[in-house]
Amino acid sequence: MKNIKDYTLQALKNELINIGEKPYRAEQIFKWLYQENITSFDEMTNLSLDLREKLKKEFTLCKFNILKKQKSKDGTKKYLFDVLDGNAIETVLMSYHHGYSICVSSQIGCKMGCKFCASTGIQFARSLTSGEIIEQILAVERDSNIKVSNIVFMGIGEPFDNYDNVLNAIRIINDPKGLNIGARHISISTSGIVPRIYDLANEDLQCTLSISLHATTNEKRSSMMPINNKYPLEELMKACKDYIAKTNKRISFEYALAKDNNDNLEDAKRLVKLLKGMLCHVNLIPINKIENGSFVKSTNENIIKFRDYLNDNGIVATIRRELGSDIDAACGQLRKKNLKNCKEEE
Ligand code: SF4
Repeated sequence: MKNIKDYTLQALKNELINIGEKPYRAEQIFKWLYQENITSFDEMTNLSLDLREKLKKEFTLCKFNILKKQKSKDGTKKYLFDVLDGNAIETVLMSYHHGYSICVSSQIGCKMGCKFCASTGIQFARSLTSGEIIEQILAVERDSNIKVSNIVFMGIGEPFDNYDNVLNAIRIINDPKGLNIGARHISISTSGIVPRIYDLANEDLQCTLSISLHATTNEKRSSMMPINNKYPLEELMKACKDYIAKTNKRISFEYALAKDNNDNLEDAKRLVKLLKGMLCHVNLIPINKIENGSFVKSTNENIIKFRDYLNDNGIVATIRRELGSDIDAACGQLRKKNLKNCKEEE
């Protein structure tokens, strides 16, 4: 059956026309789905009984079940959702002074194989549909009784390996009649799939592009991120520069610092050289320790030195606040541990 949350407003209008209904009903349905966050068609009380029955026959509401929930001391919540086909995905809710942010997954598993990521080793099952991406946000809002103001595509999966569904989801998230979250409050993070960077530059969207960079030489980056063998640093940086030239938007570069791996002064110097003159920001991430992972978090002293060197040399850099470090914070960890016998906990 079709998932009603897979449809943009215009696409839903077309669907309604196809079943002999007036297109303006789509706006009423959007209000129930995204502002009221209802969980059954019977709650759409301004629609006729006849239309509600038609919707039930045509569509599903795709309501996720919570398999497990972990709450950190800092308020971060990590959800493991049953996506209704036997698979499970993770979604993280983070609380900041400016509001709530949700980190969504875009795929069930990931093909990219980044060595520092807990998703590596989980078998890739499939990409999520737009509606499944959206339902992560709605399910968290329902459970936590909150309204989210920021969305980041940094959960399990490579968003650019599921480009069309991710972009469709962003249009629903951004639609004033949908989730009504401004595009500037939506970030997509990629491991560096170069052709999609060019594609995104041509979309009429103001969302933020984040690049998982993590290393400053091809040798080091390829050892951490196999995607670098396909799209080496020269191609990646050219695509980023072209993206900035075309959109005039700042790129955020993610750099996870691992002890004795990519956190010394030579790395910082090369990073400055790589990013000099670019409209960008560097997000330094104290690497999350993962089970069986070979990377260890850099020392606080090194992280601060690294940041200061970048800032002193004209590259704006900040250290990402560590959230959820007492729960399975790295993406993929919760799913890995709980593929069997999942239960909800507070
Ligand atoms: S870091 Fe992102 S792209 Fe790399 S394996 Fe993990 S989920 Fe995939």
